[in-house]
Amino acid sequence: MSNPQIQVDDLKVIYNKGKSNEVRSLDGVSIRIYPQEYIIIYGPSGCGKSTLLYSISGLQAPTEGDVTISGKKISQMNKSEMVDLHQSVVGMIFQAFYLIPSLNIVDNVCLPKVFRGESKSIRREAGVKLLHRFSIVEQASKFPSQLSGGQKQRVSIARSLINNPNIILADEPVGNLDSDSAENVMNILKELNEVDKKTVILVTHNAEHLHFADRVIYMKDGKIIREEVNKEKRPEDAQKEEIEMKTEDLTYELKLLMRTFKNLSTSQIGSLLVPFKASQLLTHVLYDLNQEQIDVAGAFLKEVLFGNISVESLQKSIDMDYDKGGAGWNKQRAGSFAKRVEGVLGQVENLKGGQGGKAAASTVGYLVDTFKLKLDDETKKRFSSFIRMRIENKLDRFALQERLDASRILGGVSLHKNTAEKVSREMEIIMLLKYSQ
Ligand code: ADP
Ligand code: MG
Repeated sequence: MSNPQIQVDDLKVIYNKGKSNEVRSLDGVSIRIYPQEYIIIYGPSGCGKSTLLYSISGLQAPTEGDVTISGKKISQMNKSEMVDLHQSVVGMIFQAFYLIPSLNIVDNVCLPKVFRGESKSIRREAGVKLLHRFSIVEQASKFPSQLSGGQKQRVSIARSLINNPNIILADEPVGNLDSDSAENVMNILKELNEVDKKTVILVTHNAEHLHFADRVIYMKDGKIIREEVNKEKRPEDAQKEEIEMKTEDLTYELKLLMRTFKNLSTSQIGSLLVPFKASQLLTHVLYDLNQEQIDVAGAFLKEVLFGNISVESLQKSIDMDYDKGGAGWNKQRAGSFAKRVEGVLGQVENLKGGQGGKAAASTVGYLVDTFKLKLDDETKKRFSSFIRMRIENKLDRFALQERLDASRILGGVSLHKNTAEKVSREMEIIMLLKYSQ
């Protein structure tokens, strides 16, 4: 009983390590959580609360340090232990609910069971029981869009409980709810802790919730700055152990930088993780290039515009590793980037060669290809004439965009709004380069 259920050891989650845009989401966090504790992680937006919660759930791989659940290090879990962790050891509740819009309420609740090979009737029985408990059984065959926020959050609580996990992790679960619904959800979490004996870890930035917790962990800038005990639930020897722990010379394995989720199988872990994965992947793609990679590529691009190097050697240079003097991009990105640069510069050369109808026709062809425009005879004629007017400076950028966007009846090209904006932006950069080169 004196062993912690969750142990976090000097956990670091660092993005873009060693680069100028390095972010330390978690900067050496250690914490021990005992069975049946109600913990609140509290701190301002951006201090690392969600990152800590996702690290405990095994969804976020650490840069350094370890998370141990019931004596087993997450980093040493095999695939099936990992699946078990997500399906039956921890249940997660999110601010945004993450219900699947195309599934009805009872199927949403049973979703985590789908991957466990139980029959539909057994699954449903368990789901209905939970819906009953949270007074939403009348909604069982409705769809998420038909429910209020408070009802949706009760559905997602039911879903988190369907495989009877011992640990409930909740990331700002009442952040989007009105005050009555919020109180209802907070009381449910309290009951799960006191009656069902679940360990509850709740993330919040609302000070009014703090009285619910046995222990409040205050965070700031990726670090724990303070801890407050409301009710002592830890075993008696935990305090002593804590001191020993600090003096112990722990040797932490250095974890692979930015370990990804590749050892998890989507179908097994289920749809619960998909929204999280999507947001991680999105940030990963957006953060894929660090500032240095962009700066170095920018420097090479300048050389191209000065006419010192060709687009071909631009592509080679940005693909090349740092230590060889390159920008360290990957081949695919370097390739598509160079292709875009080549396209734009091709049009700059084309227009510099002459501004007559032939040059304009070539730019029109380029724009139709690049943005995959589908034009009939009439809109093609209008499109060509507007582009030519822009080339001859008879239209400015915004007038061009307006005419591309306008409906046919109003004499426009009737392009989708976003496409009209993209095309006029492309023309703008071509015009700029033409004059500045
Ligand atoms: P909180 O939940 O306390 O608001 P988070 O744990 O979401 O904070 O984020 C902590 C910090 O880490 C923030 O500064 C955030 O911008 C940053 N961060 C989160 N994910 C990424 C990522 N994929 N790449 C870079 N920085 C990130
Ligand atoms: Mg958060």
